[in-house]
Order: sequence, then structure tokens, then C-alpha cells
Amino acid sequence: MSKSIPNKVYLSEDELPRQYYNIMADMPNKPQPYLHPMTKKPAGPADLEPLFAKALIEQEMSAERYIDIPKEVRDIYAKFRPSPLVRAYGLEKALDTPAKIYYKYEGNNPSGSHKLNSAVPQAFYNKIEGIKRLSTETGAGQWGSALSIACALFGMECTVYMVRVSYDQKPYRKTLMQTYGANVVASPSNLTNAGRAILAKDPNSLGSLGIAISEAVEDAAMRDDTHYALGSVLNHVILHQSIIGLEAKKQFEKIDEYPDIIVGCNGGGSNFSGCAFPFMHETLTKGTKTEYVAVEPAACPKLTKGKFMYDYGDTAKMAPITMMYTLGHDFVPAGIHAGGLRYHGDSALLSQLYHDGFVKAAAVQQTDVFKAAVQFARSEIILPAPESSHAIAYVIQKALECKETGEAKTIFFNLSGHGNFDLAAYEEFLAGKLEDFEYTDEMLEQGLSTVPAIG
Ligand SMILES: *Cc1c(COP(=O)(O)O)cnc(C)c1O
Repeated sequence: MSKSIPNKVYLSEDELPRQYYNIMADMPNKPQPYLHPMTKKPAGPADLEPLFAKALIEQEMSAERYIDIPKEVRDIYAKFRPSPLVRAYGLEKALDTPAKIYYKYEGNNPSGSHKLNSAVPQAFYNKIEGIKRLSTETGAGQWGSALSIACALFGMECTVYMVRVSYDQKPYRKTLMQTYGANVVASPSNLTNAGRAILAKDPNSLGSLGIAISEAVEDAAMRDDTHYALGSVLNHVILHQSIIGLEAKKQFEKIDEYPDIIVGCNGGGSNFSGCAFPFMHETLTKGTKTEYVAVEPAACPKLTKGKFMYDYGDTAKMAPITMMYTLGHDFVPAGIHAGGLRYHGDSALLSQLYHDGFVKAAAVQQTDVFKAAVQFARSEIILPAPESSHAIAYVIQKALECKETGEAKTIFFNLSGHGNFDLAAYEEFLAGKLEDFEYTDEMLEQGLSTVPAIG
């Protein structure tokens, strides 16, 4: 008999990790270099300096395995971390599965998601380099909220370009950001060339992350006192998010368990990678057999349907060109309710590891996602974010497979955030009005038709 395992595994503040983990050190094939969007030549640190703090650029390019977390950042982390590792006894019972299901809960801060883990160090490094203002985009609103909070803590200004469809669907997200002092602008806006160009073509554009990124990058590029901050995709963001997996490893150690399967939803790759990469260190260095699964919306299937190629990170072609899985930088996904998963591309690190076969991917439909979300809420209490519920839908599938085969696998997933601001989406689901969207071959062909030919 296995010994009894508590509902929650906590760490003390003293056990908060003091260093981030950088998977670049252990990858058999490093990601291809970023290319400058104009010259299409490899982008060096100097190309990134108009947009990012030097310390963050160093992290972006670093191959050091462990990187110190500054004391000032750890002190702020201690206000909302370490986050608990929870055994999903309620969900296991509801599914009548022999599988053991665990999740790390990252919704325990006012941004409602893991995004604050990177917003804090990003604001910190910009602050100490003399930057007064940060510009950014937000899709679902979680990243904008996180950066607003981080800027408030360090006494910085913050301007957030919020994708129009979310701006309209989630008005309280806007109020939350304003409460922390941010200036929130619906994107596309008439404040930037990128925004004006889109509005001239389509005054009713719902916007997209790609467009909002273009606006925020342009804003930062035009002002000396302003840098840009990105909430996902980049190596330094994924580095910061490794705090999730590093904590989880210690928590699993405490209960003498180890996951067989690690699952996360995938937008730009940060929560999945942050959770999975510290475990993948064991796979890459010792051959530990663990399955890693990134789950994406069927309406925005970059890993399962996209192509591994160089593409722009944004619609206006101002961000670096990245070797990644992409649906094309002009792709505007259907207005599904998982706003944080509507990005056309993916992290270079995650893309390379997926390409090399270390990561699996799965796509799930929106109605299955909300079915899973409601089942989770009713058995585990927490109302999950629609994004996180993609992971839950997959975990439920796996747990039901275990029921068929009688295998007691240990499944671990990242519950990246709560859905307390997503009640309009829940309302639609409960009223039976939520639709599934098919992503077609024509959409892929169309999307990839504008991708730059490189190499
Ligand atoms: C932003 C967000 C995501 C998607 O972004 P990743 O970088 O892929 O993690 C997922 N879940 C929540 C709750 C988010 O806020």
C-alpha cells in the first residue's frame, strides 16, 4: 500500500527556488537564431536593445543552466509563491479512475495566472536599467494585468494594447489593469501606424495578438523612456516560468512521487514549458521516461497542424523572425474564448523540442474544453481559466484511458489560472451557444502564403 498523500503539498518561503532553470543548456539541438525583421540576418543583442533591458537580452541568449533570481524578485514572489501542488482527489473520484492526478495552481494572485512570475522580473530589470515606462499587448487580459501589477510595485508606467475582442468580452479585466494604474487601449487603435493600417482595411477588426504586439513594439520603439514586455514565447519568459516546475519537483520529492505524464495548455509556450522543462532536464540528461504534452485549441493548432519554419512574431513584421511552429503571422484565429491561446506561433525552445520529438501535442475543441472545465469546477472547487481547461480536457481523456486499462499513472498538469473573469464564456457554454471551429487546410495554405522564404 502506498502511504497516504495529503490534498496539498506546500513549500515554505525558504524553499522558494533561488535560481531559474534554463533548458538551453541541456538541449541536444539549440534553437535557430532570431533574424532581424528587415535584414533577415541573425539578430544580435544590439538589435534587441531598443526594446528590452540588457539583463533580459542576456537571459534570452544565455546557455547557463541555472540563473540567479534577484533578491528583490524573490521578495515579491514570496507574496504569492510557492504555489501549492494539489492532488485532484475530487476529479479522480468523479472520473472513477485509478490514475493519480496532480496540479500546480498558478491562479493564486490577482492577475489570476502564472503571468506574474515573469512580469515581476521583467519590470525589475527594466527599472534598474532606468526605464520609466513599459508597453505591452494582452490577449485575454492576464498578461496585461500581471504587468500592470508589476509596474505598480516598481513605480513604473504601463500601457497595455488589449486585443479588441477581449476588450469587449472582458470589461472587468480592463478595470483591474486601470486599478493598478495602467493605461489600457483597445487594439487595433489609431495611436500607432500598425493599428491605423489595420483599421483602414477593416474598421471592425476584432484584433489579434499579432496586431497588438505590433502596436506595443512600435510604441516602445518610438520612445527612449519606454521598453516593450512580452508575456510569453521568448526564452527569458520561459526561463522565469521555470519557477513553476522547480517548485513542483521539490513538492513531488516531498511525497516521494514522480509524474509519468506532464500536461500544460499551449499559447506561446510559457506555462507548459515553465512547468515541464525542469522535469525535462532529467529526460535530457538522464533519459528519464516522462511524457510531455502541450495542448492547444483545435481552432489555433500551431503544433499539431502548423509548420516548423522561420516566421514573423507579429502582423506588422517588426518583431524578430523566429524559427518556430507557425500558422502564419497574418492568421487571425476564430473568436474562441481561450484568448491566451490565440497566438499564431510558438516559443522557439518548445518548437525545437517538439520538432526533436521530446514533446507531444494534442488539440481539443472548445465545447470539450468547457465540459471539462465545469466538471473540474464541480469536483475541485476552483473555476479554471478557459486556457487551462485545455489541459484539463486532455488530462480527463488520459485518466479515462487509465480506467480502461487499469493503469494507475501519475498525471501532473499546470492549472495556469482561474476563470473568474471568463464568466461570459461560461454563460455561453451553459446556454448551449458555444461553437466549435474547424481549422481547415485552406486556412493553413492561406496563412503560410505570406511567410517569408528563408534558407
Ligand atoms: C496567457 C495564458 C496562457 C497561455 O500562454 P502560455 O505562454 O502558453 O502559457 C495559458 N493560461 C493562462 C491562464 C494564461 O493567462
